[in-house]
Amino acid sequence: MEKTYKIGDRTFVLDQTKAEEAFSAKKIINGKDTMFFNILPLKYQWAYDLYKTMKNNHWEPEDIPMQKDVELWRSSDLSDVERWIIKMAIGYFSAAEGIVGDNIQHVTRDNVTAPELKLVLGRHAHEENIHADSLVYMISSLGINPHECEAMFEDIPTIERKTNFVVSNSRALRRDMDLDPTADKQAFAKNIFLFGQCMEGTQFYGLFGMVLSLYRQNKFPGIGQMFRYTLRDESNHIEVFRNLFMDLIEENEDVWTPEFREELIDLMREAVDLEKEFIRDCLPVNALGLSADEFCQYIDYIADRRLEGVGLSPLNQGVENPFPWLAEMMDIKKEQNFFEGRVTEYQKASALGSVDDDEL
Ligand code: FE
Ligand code: MN
Repeated sequence: MEKTYKIGDRTFVLDQTKAEEAFSAKKIINGKDTMFFNILPLKYQWAYDLYKTMKNNHWEPEDIPMQKDVELWRSSDLSDVERWIIKMAIGYFSAAEGIVGDNIQHVTRDNVTAPELKLVLGRHAHEENIHADSLVYMISSLGINPHECEAMFEDIPTIERKTNFVVSNSRALRRDMDLDPTADKQAFAKNIFLFGQCMEGTQFYGLFGMVLSLYRQNKFPGIGQMFRYTLRDESNHIEVFRNLFMDLIEENEDVWTPEFREELIDLMREAVDLEKEFIRDCLPVNALGLSADEFCQYIDYIADRRLEGVGLSPLNQGVENPFPWLAEMMDIKKEQNFFEGRVTEYQKASALGSVDDDEL
């Protein structure tokens, strides 16, 4: 018997028996492992939808002018703290983006089995490449010594601690994981939580807040613009990993023990402590309009949203968001004329697919 399946506004006629068989063989982990990219029939709709959204957000660093940033970088109007924040941002993210991309390719994408999950994770990894490339563009524009940036990862203890926190977990999970025992499934689930909710979801936000605070004061318009695009991308990455995590525990109920939940909450507590230490390193004294206490409060606020997002109890009660404007920074409409043409081009290139997102 034949049956019609829909993805967006496209329809496909599939043999019903074969389609049902393929559908039930699709799992987050331990599903049918195939080298054929069988998107149909689609099981994880969110993965395909996020893939489309992410693709429509495509951006290229070189489209963003850096002239004003360069002028400010060279001028004496810039305070030491502001210069330090930009250096910390470029130094930290230069390696952090690579660590995330590496974990996606060698741990996450390697262990999931449904093709639509591999599809969205491929795009996710590519966006980490764009972010890494944007940092190279900032380094070259400002004339920062690349070795100095690399050295920050070893010389600044608060950066080193944030890195070890995620890398130690990722390294242990490479290749040939047996995902049958509960403990191994938990290790994989923990990795997804750690990277999606603790690192990209929380530990990126101290610097997002600081750089975009400067941007809000009309400082570093080019770097700020790139961070806005990056923030928008990261919000999709957090969603990819959140959905992955939720479906993984739904399909593997043995994972979700009270002890495991406690372990994840402790992990987030550690992530928050490391991020607060790091914020105080970035902002040793309060600069104009920037207070370390407010950034720390923001981390408490955002960490609790991440925990709740995956069904865990928050660490605090009733922390208010000190930066409501930060969420609006992701809302990139057509305010940049120089970019408008390019966005339209990218959109056109994807017109073959069903674009149901007319946001841009
Ligand atoms: Fe990124
Ligand atoms: Mn990311």
